[in-house]
Amino acid sequence: LKNKGKNGYQFFTTSMKESANQRLEKEISLSQGLEKGEFVLHYQPKVYISTGEVYGMEALVRWNSENGLVYPGDFIDLAEETGMIVPLGEWVLREACRQCKEWHELGHTHLKVSVNVSAIQFQKQDFAELTARILKETGLEPAALELELTESTVMEKPKEAAAILMRLQQLGVSISIDDFGTGFSSFSYLKQFPMNALKIDRSFIQNIEEEEADKAIAKAMISLARNLGLMIVAEGVENEKQMEILRKAGCDAAQGYFFSRPLDTSAFLDYIRRSKAR
Ligand code: C2E
Ligand code: CA
Ligand code: CA
Ligand code: CA
Repeated sequence: LKNKGKNGYQFFTTSMKESANQRLEKEISLSQGLEKGEFVLHYQPKVYISTGEVYGMEALVRWNSENGLVYPGDFIDLAEETGMIVPLGEWVLREACRQCKEWHELGHTHLKVSVNVSAIQFQKQDFAELTARILKETGLEPAALELELTESTVMEKPKEAAAILMRLQQLGVSISIDDFGTGFSSFSYLKQFPMNALKIDRSFIQNIEEEEADKAIAKAMISLARNLGLMIVAEGVENEKQMEILRKAGCDAAQGYFFSRPLDTSAFLDYIRRSKAR
């Protein structure tokens, strides 16, 4: 029942009812999916623009459900609303560290893994301790782990966030601000929070060839990062023209379909081997 004020109550329409049911079903199958080990990580290469070297990869979660491969856009919101993101995010962090360690043991010791962290997960009291524990368990060197957080995640409770970030940096873990430029926060947080890198959001990259404003913003972000001593990474680079603009502007690194789509583990390993042979 929905309260419609002085007009009294209105029942859910059939379609609203269905969608509530569908949501519940999805919620149940999501948590069963985690128990059944249906989640997988794909990895997208991150490349130094000046040398073309693949220095790392972003772990991106997918759900291998009985209805096929489901992308995070279709389940992360629900996972966040239901709190499922906490165990799911813990699984992602552990699995990404385990996989990176495995690749190190195969000789690719330079690889760094980047893991996306949701606000709800980050704000859990023991996030830094959990990270320390997972690093210990998997044997991954802290320097090989980068956490990607959005501006809103760190801005929600800035004092608490700063303390957690400090603790993570003490461990030797890197911090990257994801989707940089899409939030509404002031630049002042940049000097308050310990961080190592900024990621220019794809929305500034996709029309960078024809939109002077996007180009100007990207350039400003690059010089801001340089002056703050932060690494700057462009996401969603799809073609050579975009790449050239970023190179000329002095961007450090890039990621996007121009280099590679996110790959499953065996395809990623092939990619690394091929890129080394070049
Ligand atoms: P994001 O962190 O901004 O990740 C980049 C997204 O852009 C990925 O989508 C990636 O596949 C896509 N992408 C990469 N290069 C290109 C390109 O050149 N062109 C275009 N059009 N897209 C590109 P994906 O994997 O569907 O992930 C979507 C979002 O879901 C991520 O955005 C991130 O916010 C979230 N996400 C993914 N994995 C995780 C996770 O393990 N934990 C959490 N909390 N969130 C995750
Ligand atoms: Ca990310
Ligand atoms: Ca991003
Ligand atoms: Ca983005």
